[in-house]
Amino acid sequence: MPAAQRKDYHEYESQFEDDPRIRRSDKKAKPKRASQQLAHGIVIRARGHHYDVETTAASETDGVERVRVCEVRGRLLLERGRDTLVAVGDRVWVLPEGAKKGLIERVDERHSVLSRQHPGQARPAEDVILANPDQALVVFAAAKPEPHLRMLDRFLVIAEANELPAILCVNKVELTGEAAARDLFDLYAHIGYPVLYTSAREHTGIDALRELLTDRVTVVTGPSGVGKSSLINAVHPTLHLQEGDLRDFMDKGRHTTRAAQLYRLPFGDASYVADTPGIRELGLYEIDAANLPFYFREMTAYLHDCRYPGCTHDHEPECAVRAAVARGAIAEARYDSYLRLLRGEE
Ligand code: GDP
Ligand code: ZN
Repeated sequence: MPAAQRKDYHEYESQFEDDPRIRRSDKKAKPKRASQQLAHGIVIRARGHHYDVETTAASETDGVERVRVCEVRGRLLLERGRDTLVAVGDRVWVLPEGAKKGLIERVDERHSVLSRQHPGQARPAEDVILANPDQALVVFAAAKPEPHLRMLDRFLVIAEANELPAILCVNKVELTGEAAARDLFDLYAHIGYPVLYTSAREHTGIDALRELLTDRVTVVTGPSGVGKSSLINAVHPTLHLQEGDLRDFMDKGRHTTRAAQLYRLPFGDASYVADTPGIRELGLYEIDAANLPFYFREMTAYLHDCRYPGCTHDHEPECAVRAAVARGAIAEARYDSYLRLLRGEE
């Protein structure tokens, strides 16, 4: 059998090896060479050349330690040019070494990335902060701290720029009552964002939140003090996040050297919340003005109807966006947020 074919066969077999739905009664009776027993997993943390991989192998479930400290197979290092070879969130195939270590043999194709661009280079190298994020949970409080909708709009723009579907979570609703919270935030539901009203303190809306987090990798973000850690602890108390464990996109300095990290939620097969570095690290400090209108969802329908190509929707005559604002089809507050971002105001 040619080498390539043999390898494929082994990879094929190892998938069944790791499929928790398939129970192999003859596992012990039929010992295999180590090279055949690749385990599938997800990189939850990166530290220099070491990666913590949480495996999904059936043999390692049920409370047994599933995290292996892994290095990358040398051959792989040669294969992938300048792009980030292995990032937090990558789905990988690991050759186990003993009980706690492993070697990353393969990296699955990424379906999405949160990346940090290096400006000023001819072809910007993509530095992947987080591989395969599924969605962003943008948490705001109904009160304490008072919600700043302009800041919320910035969070949503960042999510859109990264093509991350955003869910808005309005926490601490018991402080104002849900009706008052809806008065402020229903606008976002109208635009098309899912909006969740929760109270981590009174445990309302938590089941709906848990459902949204199940079997997805969720980037949890929002200003500090809104209850991000409290919410995650409410969906499952045993995780015990410390206050400040989850940072916000806006974080401009405090933790910039820390990398992204995944925390597994103990429900579903692969539910994770991601903690990511702040906005400066994400390279989104200066969003390209030409793309900005596309990051305001409700504007996109009008962008082709402006009189002048390259319309910035600021002052130009016969602007379809401004016309939509004038007749109330686009909320003034959102348009105002757009203008401020366009002009580079903080
Ligand atoms: P984070 O910085 O976004 O992670 O926020 P924390 O989870 O650390 O919460 C900040 C503060 O808000 C803490 O004192 C929490 O007890 C409080 N808090 C969290 N959720 C709620 C809530 O639903 N209602 C009220 N009233 N307080 C909350
Ligand atoms: Zn226009």
